[in-house]
Amino acid sequence: MNGFADDLELEIDAVKFDRFGVARGSDAFGDGYFGSGRGGHKVHRGMDFAYEPDALVRSPMPGPSLVTKLGYPYSDDLSFRYIELMSQNRLYIMRLFYVKPSVQPGDTVWKDDAIGTSQDIASRYGSGMVNHVHLEVYVEPRLLMPPYKRRP
Ligand SMILES: [Zn+2]
Repeated sequence: MNGFADDLELEIDAVKFDRFGVARGSDAFGDGYFGSGRGGHKVHRGMDFAYEPDALVRSPMPGPSLVTKLGYPYSDDLSFRYIELMSQNRLYIMRLFYVKPSVQPGDTVWKDDAIGTSQDIASRYGSGMVNHVHLEVYVEPRLLMPPYKRRP
């Protein structure tokens, strides 16, 4: 068993995420937990943590990781950003949405290093939304043929 994977599973547990942030809970737009409904067939692809705007955001990835991308969640508003981190063993990708980056692609960051500041996402959706950082985690994202893409 990969010790890193064990660590990450523990870290992903909401309770163990205390050091990263407090689970957002519910607001006018739905629940903050992974897989919660977003209307129709849509589900929430990440987990939300309550953050006031301009708060320091630290890397939740165990160990060292590489900043692989600084992206844009919304094509119609490039003021909002996300930060993509890849774990050192290349098995895990994390994307942190609504974070203004203080890092650059190619930087190495360690867990709990500051990587940016939280953005005012409620300004896009309205006061019914609790400001938060949205975290998505991908496992083995570089697999060329994951099982679910196998032909029937
Ligand atoms: Zn979210």
